[in-house]
Amino acid sequence: MSARVLVVDDVPANVKLLEARLSAEYFDVATAFSGAQALAMCERAECDIVLLDVMMPDMDGFEVCRRLKSNPVTHHIPVVMVTALDQPSDRVRGLEAGADDFLTKPVVDVALISRVRSLARLKMVTDELRMRAVTSKEVGIQSPEKDAVTDNGRNGRILVVDDRKTSYERIVSMLSSEHVVDVEADPNEGLFRAADGNYDVIIVSLQLENFDGLRLCSQIRSLERTRNTPILAVSEADNNARLVRGLEIGINDYLIRPIDKNEMLARVRTQIKKKRYTERLRDNVQMSIEMAITDALTGLFNRRYMETHLSGLVEQASARSKPISVLILDIDYFKSINDTHGHDAGDDVLREFALRIRKCIRNIDLACRYGGEEFVIVMPETDIAVAGMVAERLRRRIAGEQFAIQQGAANLDVTISIGIAALSGMQDNAAAILKRADTALYRAKRDGRNRVVPDAA
Ligand code: GH3
Ligand code: MG
Ligand code: MG
Repeated sequence: MSARVLVVDDVPANVKLLEARLSAEYFDVATAFSGAQALAMCERAECDIVLLDVMMPDMDGFEVCRRLKSNPVTHHIPVVMVTALDQPSDRVRGLEAGADDFLTKPVVDVALISRVRSLARLKMVTDELRMRAVTSKEVGIQSPEKDAVTDNGRNGRILVVDDRKTSYERIVSMLSSEHVVDVEADPNEGLFRAADGNYDVIIVSLQLENFDGLRLCSQIRSLERTRNTPILAVSEADNNARLVRGLEIGINDYLIRPIDKNEMLARVRTQIKKKRYTERLRDNVQMSIEMAITDALTGLFNRRYMETHLSGLVEQASARSKPISVLILDIDYFKSINDTHGHDAGDDVLREFALRIRKCIRNIDLACRYGGEEFVIVMPETDIAVAGMVAERLRRRIAGEQFAIQQGAANLDVTISIGIAALSGMQDNAAAILKRADTALYRAKRDGRNRVVPDAA
């Protein structure tokens, strides 16, 4: 799928020119003739990348960029400033507004296409993560965009791979005021250092003695541990072909010597911010996967997870003629714990109860919170006699040691009742086993609680 590029310029001829070049490379092009129009289109998610003219009446490109980057809805859209201004100080102004890259007018085709392609590729990764993370909004995980718009991109861990002492010393002195900087002067060690160090940015010189810096970049890109670490290449002027290759390989940004200190600082901050944002997105995706299957209070599996797995486990056991047992556990008089000591104390008991369950069972057993103060443990390869012993041990662990509540301010006696059932015969199934365990639990309650009752069948 080709990326949709929004070209923003108040001069229609400039828009036409960029549109033609991008269309020739099969990009899908949208156009806007003012900052306000561009902002509205970005809010409606009508583009993947913005090419933004700096000099525009009403609202200039810096302001448009600043607004895009401080709005959680649009902050992830890459912005390339297109400008006639070519001093480092102009670039720094743009970078500080949050720009991802620059193109100097008149725009050179190779530079345009390679940068747009490289940003489009990165945007696809972010979009994929955003799409999967989106459900987390409904379950209350903090949105990563909130942190991203306030992150200042400082306090990063940076690795510089450069074999020229004068050069790396200069880079270190530029960066160490806001980051922790390590140097690797032997390019052969660069990849190992990169893999071991958990860096936020890796800066690679493309003028290494007897070593191809681009090869190192490509190795960093393909290694699992460093795949997502931003690479900033440092190159001599007039080395456009190599930089274009670099962007194809997957470097994230570059600097041309002589390096301007503020530009270096600004580009590094931009990369760090992006990395932290994608990391938050990844964590958020991971967390929403975990939340979908676990109970938040106890950390045990939730009912849905247990129910989807139980049938499979039972069928498997049945097919292999192996035993499988199910325990249903229910805390006795739990309502009165809540009534006497408060709901928080009740929660403390539930958490501690879950901990004790974990300590009593094996890795292959499946423990879940089935409802309020009811828990289910599925025990593969376990017959009802062994399950009975485990249940009895668990019952004693609960009744034998008081539960601390209110940060240890008070202790409570807690007991549980347990019903057990096991797979029985070819016609048996998960729902029937659960039902028999529940009936056994009911008998345990009726017979006086604090006891284990196996299914009579
Ligand atoms: P029994 O011995 O017959 O099991 O009596 P019980 O009081 O334990 O059982 P009952 O089902 O009457 O009450 C269960 C209580 O558990 C009612 C409900 O308010 C409480 N409860 C359910 N979920 C939670 C929770 O997440 N936290 C707390 N603190 N209480 C909960
Ligand atoms: Mg109860
Ligand atoms: Mg109950």
